[in-house]
Amino acid sequence: MKNTYQSARGVRDILPDEQPYWQFLRRTAESVFEALGVSRIDIPHLENSEIYTKAIGESTDIVGKGMFTLVNRGDDEAKNTYALRPEGTAGVVRAYIQNGMQSWPQPVKLYYLGAMFRYDRPQKGRYREFYQIGLEIFGDSSAKSDFLSIMSAWQILKKIGLNDVIVYTNSIGCPKCRPKYVSKLKKYLKNKEGKLCPDCKLRIDKNTLRVLDCKEEPCQKATSDTPVILDTLCPECKSHFQNTLELLEYFGIRYDLDTRLVRGLDYYTKTVFEICEVSDKTRQNSLGGGGRYDELVSMFGGAKTPAVGFALGMDRIVTLMQENKVDVPANGGVDVCILQLGEKAKAAAKKIYDILSDESVNVYFVPSNDTLHSQLRLAAKLKARIAIIVGQTEAMKDEAIIRDLSASSQENLPVKYLAEEVLKRLQ
Ligand code: AMP
Repeated sequence: MKNTYQSARGVRDILPDEQPYWQFLRRTAESVFEALGVSRIDIPHLENSEIYTKAIGESTDIVGKGMFTLVNRGDDEAKNTYALRPEGTAGVVRAYIQNGMQSWPQPVKLYYLGAMFRYDRPQKGRYREFYQIGLEIFGDSSAKSDFLSIMSAWQILKKIGLNDVIVYTNSIGCPKCRPKYVSKLKKYLKNKEGKLCPDCKLRIDKNTLRVLDCKEEPCQKATSDTPVILDTLCPECKSHFQNTLELLEYFGIRYDLDTRLVRGLDYYTKTVFEICEVSDKTRQNSLGGGGRYDELVSMFGGAKTPAVGFALGMDRIVTLMQENKVDVPANGGVDVCILQLGEKAKAAAKKIYDILSDESVNVYFVPSNDTLHSQLRLAAKLKARIAIIVGQTEAMKDEAIIRDLSASSQENLPVKYLAEEVLKRLQ
């Protein structure tokens, strides 16, 4: 066989069959955000890479190993490298400051949808180009916004029909109380150093908390009796976390504490969370996560601004929707398909097409010489709800047959009443 071009490693096409799932997920997210007064923002796919090294941290996997960087051409005045965005938060924080949103009425609530890029080792559910839905809330330090973040992610998942999900949460404190915990943890880990994986040995000094996150079994075993951060939180962090949990409880959001949860990124403070699917009562894939990041806006040169947000991974959610056979509305589809038989009927059908189009009905009509049977097959393929059929006899009487394609019932109607009847049935 002749060699043909293939997509690059770790990226893929999303074909028409899969699109109804993506569209349902996108539309659901949009409607959840809109109902909560969250505005859409689109940020570039390409940023100066320093925003990620600064925000996410050079010692994290995303920046250390996982960023696609592009070298600028010599004639570009900026000497920095560009990076394809590996996540959304850093770009939205940059946009918040750059566009003067700090002077807008606070809180400023923004959402985004789109592709992210990470140089991950491709495997099932892990791609080099993947899609996220994200929310960021700026300017509110209260637990209400932590709750709102978790609740909106939860609502999106519920509304698309994923019920077996759970929120794992933890608090990783603030710059006042965290250093105390980190030095306690460091001391503890130094004693276990011989049992840790090579990455974790380096993490003890560079990124201590991340040792808790390591998925290697020997590391998890060696650190099973690790000190718990919740015990060293300052009173402010403690009450903030308690308030968040109370709101989750009050609204019936299923959650559990995970005292090892620290999330991979450097910028988090206080609440962190991850949303996972559960099956047979065990934790499965992470569908998304987020947390509070009260220091990031000031790290980027803005005035100190509290903030919290999350990102959901759309690819994994869509896979889960398919596995769970979630019922999704048909993609687009047409409302009405006009079928005709014979030359006179073609002209009459065109007239009906014009009338319905003027009424903004989503109508399909292409004059063809196909049999009625194959035109009906096409209407079914287009997922039309109504077929309007015009034969020579109907055309002569200025009538048409209106057929309900799901009930397979039909009746004759004068053309002048057709638009009114179609609109009534589509309501
Ligand atoms: P993160 O930004 O790392 O917190 O990831 C949030 C969510 O994005 C994860 O829970 C995944 O569902 C999804 N995600 C992260 N990395 C990938 C990837 N390489 N491929 C597909 N989905 C991903």
